[in-house]
Parts: sequence; structure tokens; C-alpha cells
Amino acid sequence: MPYAGLIRPSVERMQTYSSARDEFEGMAPVMLDANENSLGSVGPDDFSRYPDPHQRAIKLELAKLKGVAPGNIFLGNGSDEAIDLLVRLTCTPGQDSIVICPPTYGMYEVAANLNDVRVQRLPLTPDFHLPADAAETLAASTAKLVFLCSPNNPTGNLFAQETVETILRTFRGIVVVDEAYADFSPAPSWTTRLPEFPRLVVLQTFSKAWGLAGLRLGVAYAAPELIGYLNKIKPPYNISTATQQHALAALAAAPQLPEMQAELLAGREVLASELPRLAIVDHVFPSDANFLLVRFNVDATAVYDQLRARGIVVRNRTTQPGCAGCLRLTVGTAAENAVLLRALTEIVTQSPNAVTSAH
Ligand SMILES: *Cc1c(COP(=O)(O)O)cnc(C)c1O
Repeated sequence: MPYAGLIRPSVERMQTYSSARDEFEGMAPVMLDANENSLGSVGPDDFSRYPDPHQRAIKLELAKLKGVAPGNIFLGNGSDEAIDLLVRLTCTPGQDSIVICPPTYGMYEVAANLNDVRVQRLPLTPDFHLPADAAETLAASTAKLVFLCSPNNPTGNLFAQETVETILRTFRGIVVVDEAYADFSPAPSWTTRLPEFPRLVVLQTFSKAWGLAGLRLGVAYAAPELIGYLNKIKPPYNISTATQQHALAALAAAPQLPEMQAELLAGREVLASELPRLAIVDHVFPSDANFLLVRFNVDATAVYDQLRARGIVVRNRTTQPGCAGCLRLTVGTAAENAVLLRALTEIVTQSPNAVTSAH
């Protein structure tokens, strides 16, 4: 019983919605079971039929690519949907809690707040690693879920494998390792450890390295029994036909991925080596992702505003815990990176008084 006490009782009790496409799989010459429009669609493309609620074709291809079984895969409308479903699967509103390790991705807390679930904070160290007592603290916690984002957003670093492993062995709740940026990191994915850890969930996404943020497709990998629970509570048709078609086309083109990854990593290295030469840059944090967290020795919000005035939008992270003075810069094309570096150089040389000194 690896999930004893971890699944919300109301979820255990509830009946799954049985969709028309669950009760009849595939196509027959006459399909009059789902109140679709048999005449076709308004608009140029035919989307008149409901999509496969189990996304079998994608899971088959993704399983091959990732070296897991189709039964280890849940697909969400972005990983944000998987995050929300994981909170709702395990936490009873007004009663249960999750653990996050700030500074980190904001959607964990949003999902908890939306579901009236308490958030416990286990802050990262000043250099953004899991604290030495993280496993011990979590072992004593009754939280249902901990979110470990590795490589972490907005800091860019991977968490130590030994610490994550100790947490997986000692925390009684579900350990969600969010690998949205794993495609930019040399570390092996935690999906390789799924057979050892029934309470491990690994999140990945098509939004970053795959360049398909507009499609909304995220993936949760876990033991089949846990995947079964996510399937039980998901909206039946959560992945549209258009998304499924595009995702299959992308998976067929997977051999193109390494070239794009290499180009983005090269861009990251250019930025990582050039940014520290700028007088206004205090520190560039090491990154295993497609962005860099940069600490400025001047008012970072003023730098943000000046970049914005030059048509360059970056992410202002100055109000995040431990991120005072920091902006998060996404790696762009070679040309965009050059424009960014030139703009920052100009901010240094042309407006020495426009950015006031930070304390
Ligand atoms: C971008 C990002 C995601 C991706 O979310 P999608 O809903 O799949 O687009 C998930 N987690 C983290 C940490 C991210 O930065």
C-alpha cells in the first residue's frame, strides 16, 4: 500500500466519469454516441470528433523515447494541470499541506491556494541548494506533497542527487521532481529511478526545450497505480486533438531536438561568460537551464525598466526570497543575446546615474 493515507478519501470514493470515448473505442461507420456534429466543423479543419481521452499514440512514442512504459505516463494541459491535479489528488482542502522550497516556481503555491491547501516553506540556502536538514525536516512532516524543482526556476541550478534520494527514502508523502528544464541539464532524469520509488512523480514539459509552449502539453511520470489516480480525476478530454496531432509530429521530429538544445546551451555560455564583465553585474548564478539568474550591484528594477524601454522584456525576480537585485534572463537567439548584452552595456556606460546603487 504505497499510497496509504496519501490519496484524498473523496477521490478514493468517487466514481470516474465514463466518457463516450471510454465506452466505445475507435471509429465505426456511424458514430452517434457523443453528440458531436457529424456534418463536420465550422472553419478550415475537421475537429468534429472528441480526442482520445487516453492519448495512446503519444504515450506509445513518448514511452519509447524516454525508456518508460506507457503506463508510467500522464499527459496534462501543460505541467501546470499536472501540478493542480497532484495537489487535488492528495490534499483535502482546509486540512492538508504541501511543502515548497522557495525561491521556486510560483504555480505550486497558486495550486495550493486555489485548493485551500496550506503551504509549508523549506527555504533554499543563499546559493539556492536544499538545506542540509531538508531530508530530516521532511521526514518529520505530515505534508502530502513536496515540490522539488530541479533544475530550479528561477535559480537555474540542479539539486544534489543524494539529498533528493534521501528525501525519496524518508519523506512519507509524494515527492514531485519538476524537471521542466531537464533537457538543458547533463544530469540523468529521475524517470530512470521510477521503479525504485513508488512515491516519486517526475514532471516534464513540451514548453521549454521542445519549443511548444503554445501547445500546452506537460507530462507526469510515475508508477502506474499513481498514474491511474491522475487519470481518474482528470477532465476526460484534457488534451485536444490539435495538441495530440502536433505532439506526434514533434515526437517524430525528435532527432532535431539535440541541435536546438546545443544552440541554446551555446547561447547560455556566451551570456554566462559575457555578463560578469559588465560593471553593473554582481553575480551570474550557475545554470543548468535555458535561463540565467543575474544579481546586479545596482537597482535591478531600474535595469529592468531600462531594458523594457529598449524593447527587451526579462523577468524581474527582485521580490522573490533570496533573489534581491536579481533578474532572470531567458537565453534567446544569438542575435537576441547580442542585443541584450549591448543594451546592458549601454545601461552601464550611458546612464551611470539612471540606476541607483543597491544596498
Ligand atoms: C515553465 C515551467 C513549467 C511548464 O509549465 P507548462 O504548464 O508545461 O508550460 C513547469 N515547471 C516549471 C518549474 C517551469 O518553469
